[in-house]
Order: sequence, then C-alpha cells, then structure tokens
Amino acid sequence: MQVRCYRCGATMSIKQDEIAFVLQALEEEGGKHYDVRCNRCRHTNRVSLERLRQEASRIRKKEEPKTEE
Ligand SMILES: [Zn+2]
Repeated sequence: MQVRCYRCGATMSIKQDEIAFVLQALEEEGGKHYDVRCNRCRHTNRVSLERLRQEASRIRKKEEPKTEE
C-alpha cells in the first residue's frame, strides 16, 4: 500500500503484514487512524482506518481468487 506524504510528496509503502497488524491494533484501541512518519521530511501522515480496511480486503481478494464460487 502506498501512502503519499501530504507535505513533501514522498511515497511511503506499508507492507501487507503491517496493515493487518495495524488494523488489529486500531480495532483493539478504538483508534480511527494510523500515523505514518515520512522518511524524508518527518511529517506525520494520517491514514484512516477505512482506507486500511479497504486495502486489507483488496489484499485478501488477491490472495484468494475465486474461492467463494
Ligand atoms: Zn514528507
């Protein structure tokens, strides 16, 4: 998953296992977003829980193609 820094435009990538881990942690804590620190300018970018969920479901579909049919 690619996250673009709001301040400098640098692109950070979040790994699939990190997304799964973060989603679980946010749900346990009742958090609404994940803070991603930019490698270039150190600005903290907020990634919404909703976006993480969408990404996780997209990954799941990719990994398990057509198992429901
Ligand atoms: Zn930045």
